[in-house]
Formats: sequence, C-alpha cells, structure tokens
Amino acid sequence: MSDDCLFCRIIRGEIPSKLVAQTPECLAFRDIDPQAPTHVVIVPRAHIPSLANVADPLIVGQMTRLATDIAESEGIGASGYRVVVNTGSDGGQTVFHLHMHLLGGRRMTWPPG
Ligand code: 5GP
Ligand code: ZN
Repeated sequence: MSDDCLFCRIIRGEIPSKLVAQTPECLAFRDIDPQAPTHVVIVPRAHIPSLANVADPLIVGQMTRLATDIAESEGIGASGYRVVVNTGSDGGQTVFHLHMHLLGGRRMTWPPG
C-alpha cells in the first residue's frame, strides 16, 4: 500500500468508486472518465507501480482473467473488447499503480492514438 497513491486510496475505500468486481487479489471499478460504453479499471490490491515492476507474473494472469470475466458479465464478450495496460510516460500512464483498462461496447480503432 502507498499512502498517497490514488488507486490504493480507492482500494482502502478512502475515495469512492463504482465497484464492478473484487477477488482476493484484485479490484475492478468503473473509470471516472469513460472512453467507451464499458470502461472498467482492474487493479491488483498490492501497490505495484507499473507493468515494468511486476515481480510475480501470476498477478497479470489474475487481472486478465478478471477482465475477461467482467467482459462476459458486461455483455461484451461476443462483440469484443480491448484490454490496455498503459506503461510509463510514453505509454500514457497517468496513475502509477498497475491497472488494466477494459474497454468495449463500441468499435475500437487502430492504430491507437
Ligand atoms: P492511465 O492513464 O494511467 O492508463 O489510466 C488512469 C485512469 O484512471 C484514467 O482512465 C482515469 O480516467 C482514471 N481515473 C483517474 N482518477 C480516477 C478516480 O478518482 N476514480 C476512478 N474511478 N478513475 C480514475
Ligand atoms: Zn497504489
């Protein structure tokens, strides 16, 4: 846990969020500034700054499984979706607590901006 980390504060319940799902390892909540009809953020409960700081890759698998489970429960499993992990400054990461974006409910474009 990190005292001044935004997502750690959401995990601790100090900042309200629209919870979508939780597991012993992860939490999933709606993004405050949704970029698609479904936009869910999946985070590990442990404070890991970014994908580059993952020590045990199991957590990435657990996050991924939660993302695909939520895609099914959100009704976008068949239509498709995008899972994004912005990493570092050129990757567009703004919150330095590892997270996956689950985006769906509209057709995504490629290449990304
Ligand atoms: P990043 O840019 O680091 O990949 O993603 C950070 C995400 O966190 C952004 O999509 C942003 O909208 C979201 N976000 C920032 N502050 C809050 C907040 O207080 N609550 C929620 N639910 N999402 C937030
Ligand atoms: Zn954190």
